[in-house]
Formats: sequence, C-alpha cells, structure tokens
Amino acid sequence: MRIGLIDVDGHNFPNLPLMKISAYHKSQGDFVEFYEPLIGVCEPYDKVFISKVFTFTRDYNAPIYSNEVIKGGTGYDLKNKLPSEIETVYPDYSLYDVGSTAYGFLTRGCPRACEFCVVAEKEGACSIKIADLSRFWRGQREIKLLDPNLLAYPDRTDLLYQLIDSKAYVDFTQGLDIRLLNEEVAELLMQIKIKSIHFAWDFEKDSEIIKQKLKWFKNFSKLDYTKLNVYVLTNFNTDFGFDLERVYTLRDMGYNPYIMIYDKKTAPKQCKRLQRYVNNRRIFRSLKSFEEYTG
Ligand code: SF4
Repeated sequence: MRIGLIDVDGHNFPNLPLMKISAYHKSQGDFVEFYEPLIGVCEPYDKVFISKVFTFTRDYNAPIYSNEVIKGGTGYDLKNKLPSEIETVYPDYSLYDVGSTAYGFLTRGCPRACEFCVVAEKEGACSIKIADLSRFWRGQREIKLLDPNLLAYPDRTDLLYQLIDSKAYVDFTQGLDIRLLNEEVAELLMQIKIKSIHFAWDFEKDSEIIKQKLKWFKNFSKLDYTKLNVYVLTNFNTDFGFDLERVYTLRDMGYNPYIMIYDKKTAPKQCKRLQRYVNNRRIFRSLKSFEEYTG
C-alpha cells in the first residue's frame, strides 16, 4: 500500500502518532511518506492519515486524493485512539530526521483534572504506566518525555531509575507536578542528566505550596535557571497583576517563566505582549520589567 501522512500542526515538533503509524506500516511492507498532493492527484494514495494535536490549529482543508482518509488526534476529538498494535510500536524517528532524540510517554493520565486541561478526560483521572523506556528509546543521546503527570504515578521511582540508567539527557517537556516533589524524588532527579525541567504555576490557590517547593528545589538541585522552566498559565482565571507577580517571583527565585495563553483568540493584547516579552529569554533577561519592555 501507499500511505500518506499529514501533520496538520506543522513540522516544528515531531508528531508521535504519525511516527508510530509510519513504523507500523513500514513493518508491513508498505510505502510511507508525507502526503504529496501532486503525487496524489496523479495516483491516489491507498490511505492517508491526518493528525492534529491542537484544537487551535487550522484544519487541512485542501482536497485529499486517497481511497481512505483517517483523521486522529486531540485536535479533532478526545475519543480517537491508535489501535494497540500501532500504539505500542517503536516510532519511526527517520520521518522527522530526529535520530538523536527519543520521544514518548512512560505514563498517561492525571488525577488533577484541571478545568482547562483535557488530559483527565482523554487519558483517565489517574496516572498509569503505559510503557518502559525501551519501548521508544534505543540509546539516543536525548529523551523528550511527554508524560502529563509522571510524578502522580505511584511507582514513579521505578521510572526515574530507568531514566537514570539510560544516561541520556532528559527533557521533562510537559511539567513535573512540583506539589508531588519530595526529597526522595528530588534525589533521583538529580541522578538523571537533566536537559530541562518544566514545572507549572497555574492557580492562585496553590501559590504558597508552589513557591515553597520551588524555593526548596532550587536550593537542593543548584540547577541553573536555563534548565528550570515554569509554565505560567494566563487568560484562564487569573488577572494580569497575578500574571506579572508570578513572572517576577519566578525570575527572582532563579527560574525561567514561560507564558502559556489559554484560548489565545480571546486573550487581551496585554497578555500577548507579556508572552512576547517573557518567552524571549534574551529580552526578558535584559529588560527588568514589562513596563520597560512596553516603553
Ligand atoms: S496537572 Fe497538568 S496534566 Fe494534570 S490536569 Fe492539570 S494541567 Fe493537566
């Protein structure tokens, strides 16, 4: 079969489901490539898989020349899932030419069920193990973990030991739940080669515990701010004053804030300007205040 793949969100970040679909179909002897309309119009594909992770990405609306089109991803709905024979396959990293980095999930689900987040509804309201590291890592220099809440998994130490043993640089891309961090976990984290850690400070009600844990972890880890990132959710249920307070507090504590905007279409201009200011590290480190940035 000739299989075409469409990554609706663009090619900036490798699409894991597409890499698995590619690996599975290649293992069946099929020919797989990113969908090429000029080829399809002459000779339709047997199957085209179209994947959309984000709801806000504009859909692919051009004609698709294929006998069958299969859509998937959170950007379409929360129910669609890959069949298990594809979900469990080792990804085809050559699709995005990312040979030195492995991408994947060790766990899925999250018990927090934050109102702005689809994870609990899509993956379940508890963190469960879905794979060992060897499922998607075979000696690559770097691992990008996509787990939504790895620390909520009861046997998290087992997974942290797997990351230690890998000796690979690990990027916890999706936010480690700082509220669940204790000395045992922090000690294991420090045995991992950390490329980058992301925490999150989303709600005002959690401020005290988050600040206390962040302060403690900074002293404990001695990691440089370039490796310590904190997602700051805006335009959900916080006001601009609290957005600024989080940004400045994090910088003073030795962390790197990273502005996330909920529902960007409705976000006030000020919020978008704050994002441009804070997320550009060079500007953020050279201009001490948002007022200075806005002139
Ligand atoms: S803690 Fe993170 S993953 Fe869990 S529901 Fe909240 S935002 Fe989603």
